[in-house]
Amino acid sequence: MKVRAIGGANAAGKPIRLRGGLLAFNIEPSGFEEVVLRFNKAQKAITLRKLSLETGVEVAELPDGTKFGDVDYLMKSCSLLFDRYRDLDLIVASFPFLMRDSEHGLPFSESRSVQAADRGAGIVVLSEDDLDTYAKRADRSYTDTLAFLLIGELARLLAGVQNHSDTRGCIMDYCEIKDEVVAGLRRYTFDEECRRHLIDATYGPAILRLAARFGHPRWWQDQSPVLWTSAALFSAGLAFAATDALISLATPYGALVRAGAILAPLSAFLLAFVRTIRRK
Ligand SMILES: [Zn+2]
Repeated sequence: MKVRAIGGANAAGKPIRLRGGLLAFNIEPSGFEEVVLRFNKAQKAITLRKLSLETGVEVAELPDGTKFGDVDYLMKSCSLLFDRYRDLDLIVASFPFLMRDSEHGLPFSESRSVQAADRGAGIVVLSEDDLDTYAKRADRSYTDTLAFLLIGELARLLAGVQNHSDTRGCIMDYCEIKDEVVAGLRRYTFDEECRRHLIDATYGPAILRLAARFGHPRWWQDQSPVLWTSAALFSAGLAFAATDALISLATPYGALVRAGAILAPLSAFLLAFVRTIRRK
């Protein structure tokens, strides 16, 4: 069966917008909504929406109690969802345990992505085993850590960037020793080689934006407060000027001071507003 590539570029060379669904197998982690919200705000080439499942998927257990799921079974469960959500190009599922290949090796904590044969769609399954531990050690939120796994898979699936076996503190580090993921998670960026590869790929710039936005959580916090503080200052300046004008129709010097009281916060507000718009 021929595998159709996902998405592509339109006549103007811009990426065709991909529609993705995000779902959690068995346990929905808190912070899931936030991933969707931030993901869509960071770029426009790929949009996500949350899907919900009525039933969970089967989970197997090793004698020592380690829980895992079969990779092929999880992928198949995702691909069945394309029948229900026909408009989707991408299904991203998070799985709270380890995964295991059909060859029955040891379960591993890794994410996997495949192109859904003949559909021009993709499936990403993120293994969240121990995600909390790594998030804490790298001083990252759960949301940013889950997005970190997703961004790496999207780079692989949509831009053909391969994981490298050497650890460079890059999103594409393979991390044979799982602990090494902490270095990449702290830096939250692509190394020069991977970045160069992404810049030339259709969905690469969107993926780079995702890494830049999720990698700097303060970006989200900074936006509104700056705007609202400036707006509040402006209103205060206006109120002050109005009251003051009633009390004294003052000297030219006093008028200058009052003009400053209004204009300084007003320009700060406008500047913050323009910056917010340009970020979108
Ligand atoms: Zn790299």
